[in-house]
Amino acid sequence: MGDVIRLLPDHVANQIAAGEVVQRPASVVKELLENSVDAGATHITLVVRDAGRTLVQVTDNGRGMGPNDARLCFERHATSKIDKADDLQHIRTKGFRGEALASIAAVAQVELRARHADDETGLRIRIDGSRIQGQEPIAAPIGTTIAVRNLFYNVPARRQFLKSDPVEMKHVLEELHRVALAHPDIAFDLVQNDQESLRTPPQNERQRIVQLLGRKYDERLVPVEESTELVAVKGFIGKPEFARRSRGEQYFFVNRRYIRSHYLDHAVRRAYDELIGKESYPSWFLFLELDPAQIDINIHPTKTEIKFRDDRVIYAIVHAAVRRALGRFNIVPSLDFEPEPALLVNTEQQAMPRPATTWRPQDLGPRRSASGWQQLFDDRPSDRAERSEKVPHILPSRELDDEPGPRPVFQLHGKYVLAQVRTGFVVIDRRRALERIVYERALRALQLGNGPSQTQLFPRNVELSATDHALITELLPDLRTMGFVLDTLSGRTLTISGLPAEAAEEDPQRLLEQLLEQLHQERSALKLERHEAMARSMARSMAVRRTEDLDTARIHDLIDRLFACEMPYFTPGGKPTLITFGLDELGERFERG
Ligand code: ADP
Ligand code: MG
Repeated sequence: MGDVIRLLPDHVANQIAAGEVVQRPASVVKELLENSVDAGATHITLVVRDAGRTLVQVTDNGRGMGPNDARLCFERHATSKIDKADDLQHIRTKGFRGEALASIAAVAQVELRARHADDETGLRIRIDGSRIQGQEPIAAPIGTTIAVRNLFYNVPARRQFLKSDPVEMKHVLEELHRVALAHPDIAFDLVQNDQESLRTPPQNERQRIVQLLGRKYDERLVPVEESTELVAVKGFIGKPEFARRSRGEQYFFVNRRYIRSHYLDHAVRRAYDELIGKESYPSWFLFLELDPAQIDINIHPTKTEIKFRDDRVIYAIVHAAVRRALGRFNIVPSLDFEPEPALLVNTEQQAMPRPATTWRPQDLGPRRSASGWQQLFDDRPSDRAERSEKVPHILPSRELDDEPGPRPVFQLHGKYVLAQVRTGFVVIDRRRALERIVYERALRALQLGNGPSQTQLFPRNVELSATDHALITELLPDLRTMGFVLDTLSGRTLTISGLPAEAAEEDPQRLLEQLLEQLHQERSALKLERHEAMARSMARSMAVRRTEDLDTARIHDLIDRLFACEMPYFTPGGKPTLITFGLDELGERFERG
């Protein structure tokens, strides 16, 4: 009587396992489409009836299957895609578990028609609930057709869980979109309740997005392109003004596989931080390519979650790629700086640590050196001869063209800085620029845990209120990380003996008071993440309106440091830091006058 353990019959085991893979018609669509892609198809036709409830059928012109494969493919763990554990390191195909067809066949009536390229005839197999009903040779074109009828016919409980047809159809389309967006070079057709509802030729990525999601996307997309040793990030993001209240179209593909990642969502969202409201959603279509050894796709049975070996670096690169794309888009047409020999050296910038070791400076492209701020949006080579031709437009005198050294910059009322750019000039708000610079430096210092060097001071004692004292005590480690040298003495007295490098000229007490005030505000008003709140407060406290003129070197330094920022064009609060004026604009004004 003690022996109660029995092995489950295969069809029961399959049916149980099917629960994981097959949740609804859309799951079938996904698995079949992916198999067709893996089979090297260039044309795939999806036919659905009643939102996939009564029929999901996929036909492809891929490599097809021989008679043995056609039978084997319905066995659990039957796969042609890997044969040893080590292969998991190099997965390029969508499937590899060999579970999908077995699972589908366990809960539906399946018919397979296939012919392998090497065979004269094809084969037809019918399986109901894992049981082979019959098989026969047939005449068939090279490729594979799999028809899945009456999903969950033998699992009434599952059938009841299906939603209305429109909802199920929405899921089906979503799966089709994911595969079709990932593979714009493959033609896809969709036949829905006997009506052809989609026909896409092989296209490029942008055309595919526009065809699937609508013409309006064409003007909304900004290209993203960033290549590093570890990963290439390409694709498109939506312009900020088209961000929507409801969740937009947001797609990540890793090695052409659709994936979901809250972590990467966050990287992109943050890149839009100052550009769109907290409640709107931008859209994105981003394709990441990296060595499969760097990822583990095996953590979830339906494989939309993945794990990166070095996810912090991937995060940083995706974030930077989107920032740069947004930056370009905001400013490209008019901002077109000319290379400036005097701006080539910037030791402070070089001293700044980079966020991650494997993320090399090239990842930020031209921005890594101070010369970057002109080249940032200038695709043309920095050809000296070409440059001197362009100069005369608004320079005060021609001779300056041939002189080495910095080109003139101007100040207006101590508030603004004017600099010449190829297509006109740019007006920079000094205070806002400083705010951006301080913000990014503080944030980076906090994230890396090592602040820039401090200036030593003659120690100053400051008496704090009880609330300020509590706040300072709580934030002491962060303040130190940002470069403050602080010590609490007895009672509520604080000694300041060092300030962050960029605060060299500040009055320590005033700065600290400003900072505390800002911190109280930021923390209560916005509930920002702590580092974010600290960095913003620091930036606000530093960036007080000043009216004294800067010397030329300091102006250049300011411009350099601004353009070394990840997002030079806006303050952390989203206000523009600069405005550009085109020569054509000026010309027009004079004409009108
Ligand atoms: P996996 O895709 O994980 O290998 P599946 O159960 O989805 O597992 O498919 C099992 C096997 O059947 C595949 O490895 C492949 O060899 C074969 N197969 C499935 N669909 C097709 C198809 N459309 N064309 C050619 N071979 C296919
Ligand atoms: Mg598969």
